[in-house]
Amino acid sequence: MKRLFTLALFVLGAVALTFAQGGNVLVIRNVTLIDGTGRAVANATVVIEGNTIKDAGAHAQAPAGARTIDGTGKFLIPGMIDAHIHLRGGRGQAPAADQERDGVRALQSYIYAGVTTVFDAGNRSEFIMGLRAKERSGAIVSPRIFATGGTVASPNGHGGPYNVEAWPGDRRLLDEHLATKPDLAKIGQDEHGWGTRPQIRQLPEDLLEKIIRYYHSKGVRIIIHVSNEHNAIEAIYAGADTLAHPIIQAPMSEEYVRMMSVKHVPTVSTLTIGENYSRVADHPEFLDQPLYRDTFEAAERQMLKTEESAKQKENRWAAWMKVMTPVAQDNMKRLNAVGKDIVAAGTDQSSGPALHRELELLVGSGISAADTIVIATRNAARALGKLDELGTIEAGKLADLVLLKADPTKDINNAKQVDTVIKNGQVIDRAKLDLPVNRRTNSQE
Ligand SMILES: [Zn+2]
Repeated sequence: MKRLFTLALFVLGAVALTFAQGGNVLVIRNVTLIDGTGRAVANATVVIEGNTIKDAGAHAQAPAGARTIDGTGKFLIPGMIDAHIHLRGGRGQAPAADQERDGVRALQSYIYAGVTTVFDAGNRSEFIMGLRAKERSGAIVSPRIFATGGTVASPNGHGGPYNVEAWPGDRRLLDEHLATKPDLAKIGQDEHGWGTRPQIRQLPEDLLEKIIRYYHSKGVRIIIHVSNEHNAIEAIYAGADTLAHPIIQAPMSEEYVRMMSVKHVPTVSTLTIGENYSRVADHPEFLDQPLYRDTFEAAERQMLKTEESAKQKENRWAAWMKVMTPVAQDNMKRLNAVGKDIVAAGTDQSSGPALHRELELLVGSGISAADTIVIATRNAARALGKLDELGTIEAGKLADLVLLKADPTKDINNAKQVDTVIKNGQVIDRAKLDLPVNRRTNSQE
């Protein structure tokens, strides 16, 4: 036993020595570092040891013998984060294996596009928690997955299956949810869903507060779906930590903006979901852009350009969202003006290209490209309560990084110019992802 222990110590010592000599160290040299805080540093060095950033900046020293990526002429940003998705595959009647394949392909479209973390804000629990387990064990190549699984709402409210009415009787529903180990709990609070739907029920304020307190007592953060200012204020004062959407039903009042200038409640932008209906109706040619061609199956792009485009031309909801998206955009711009840490990127969609559309819409609102990178990195990590581990390129953070071929603070479209994706200290082999770009033969190029 003692000998075994000595041997173990010897092996550990050898491993430590290898670390010290740079064996497990990855260095990115001579890069323009856009660290997620709003800072940019020229000629920077970033040192990654194992899955952690050890040092970053102009002063950082690369240990001898480390593996090195030359960042000359390139731009390094934190791995991007989509703080509101619903991963495809979880719904419908397809066999489990097909659902999982669809889910994994969607996950790989994120990582291909430089998105290294996603938060699933509502899905079939077994589906998303199953994929989360596979991501965490390394069984699948995927961005980091945080998930709520099922959501909480009033009976006949905006979400489920945890539909709470009686207290404390229905607390068992929350215990059922907690047993699935949600990273955050999502509450749906709305009297319309999100628009032209008939009225639905929402949680009374005192019950909302009791629910939030209960999750907090278990250490679980609350993200809440609200779409109007009244519900947002009620949710914030009931203790909600993050808003899953902007105020979309009207321009924000000055009082609301002043309240947010004090409270800085993270607000996920989700402009893409509303805008996407009319985009598919009016401009389906966007699906021919490289990022969509690379990651969407050809048959799906064809269906969206024809059948779905025709359907959305007739959809009143698409027309309504076309009117309201600029209102939501302006609301995001106004929040960002009173607190640079408030707006967080999220799409309410299920693909890597959607996050890039979100960044375009944020810039379209008048927010600078430089701020938009912060919104997609640091602020999204903050919205998820993960800022201690993720969201910026600073010593001690997990090593999720994206090397870009062009400067995203000059033009947000440059965030699509992905050179290298690093997740958890590992370089992702983008050529091995299960995506159309990697299935094309040369003759089809
Ligand atoms: Zn959603």
